[in-house]
Amino acid sequence: MTAQLIDGVALSKTLRAEAAMRAARLPHRPGLAVILVGDDPASAVYVRNKVKACAEAGFHSVLEQYDATLSEADLLARIAALNTDPAIHGILVQMPLPRHIDPHQVIAAISTAKDVDGYSVLSAGELLTGLPGLRPCTPWGCMKLIESTGIDLRGKHAVVIGRSNTVGKPMALLLLQANATVTVCHSATPDLAHHTRQADVVVAAVGRRNTLTADMVKPGAVIIDVGMNRNDDGKLCGDVDTAAVQQVAGWITPVPGGVGPMTITMLLLNTLQAAEAAAARSAR
Ligand code: NAP
Repeated sequence: MTAQLIDGVALSKTLRAEAAMRAARLPHRPGLAVILVGDDPASAVYVRNKVKACAEAGFHSVLEQYDATLSEADLLARIAALNTDPAIHGILVQMPLPRHIDPHQVIAAISTAKDVDGYSVLSAGELLTGLPGLRPCTPWGCMKLIESTGIDLRGKHAVVIGRSNTVGKPMALLLLQANATVTVCHSATPDLAHHTRQADVVVAAVGRRNTLTADMVKPGAVIIDVGMNRNDDGKLCGDVDTAAVQQVAGWITPVPGGVGPMTITMLLLNTLQAAEAAAARSAR
C-alpha cells in the first residue's frame, strides 16, 4: 500500500479563498494584531508569514515589534489597548517571550473574544466543556486535514503522541468531540508502539524525528505529522519516518506542506470568526 498524501497547501488554498470571500461580506475587514518581542529569528519568520497570509486574504493586520527589553507592564498595557481597538479582532503574541515576561499573564490579558491562538485558560475551558469558542490553530488544522480524507472519526481509535497545552491536549479533546476513542501518549508511556499499532489515526506532536516508524503503524491508518525538526542535511522533517510509513499507512501528511500551512490558515479562520462575532454584536 502507498498512502495518499493529505495536501495541507491545497486545503489551505481552498479554506483561505473561502475565508477571503466571507471577510469581504463583513462591514469591516477582519483585523489581526501580531506582537513580537525580541529578535528570535524563527519567530520573526513565523510572524512575517502570518502577516503576509492576512494581506493575501484581504485582512487588516498590524505587526508590533518590540525590543527584548520591553517590560511586562508595557506589554500588558499594549494588549489592553488592543482589546478595546474596534479595528482589531484577533491578538497574537508570538511565543517564546523573553524570560522576564510571564507568558501566562500575557495570555490571560488577551480578551477571550480576541484570543485567536486559543491558548487562554478560558478558551481551553470552552474546548473542554464543548462550548463554542476559538480553538488552538494547530490541532484544529489537524482536524480539518483528517476531515479532508472523508473518514468519519466516530468509533475510530485515535492515538495522540504528545500532551502539550498547545497541541497534544487540545488535539485529544477535539478528537474526543468528534467521537473518536482517544489515547494520549507521552514521554512516560512505556510501549508507544503497542498503542500506535492499534490506531486508526495517529497524530504525532513530539518534536523528535523518527518517533513513528513503519513497524508502529496499522495498515491503512491516517497519519498526521505535526513535528518540525531538522534532519542530518538540515532539511525540515516531521516526527514520522515518512518514506517508510507511507508504505503502510492509508493517508499521511507531508512535512513540509501538511500541518504547517494549516496552522496559519486556522489563525485566519479564527480571526474571521472573531470579526463575524464582533459584527453580529454591533448589529444587535
Ligand atoms: P512540546 O511542548 O515539547 O511537547 C512535546 C510532547 O512530546 C510532550 O508532551 C512530551 O512528553 C512528548 N514526548 C517527548 N518525547 C516523547 C517520546 N519519546 N515518546 C512519546 N512522547 C514524547 O512540543 P509541542 O509544542 O507540542 O510541539 C511538538 C512538535 O510539533 C514540535 O516539533 C513543534 O515544533 C511542532 N509544532 C508544529 C506546528 C506546526 O504548525 N507545524 C505547530 C506547533 C508545534 P512529556 O509531556 O512527558 O514531556
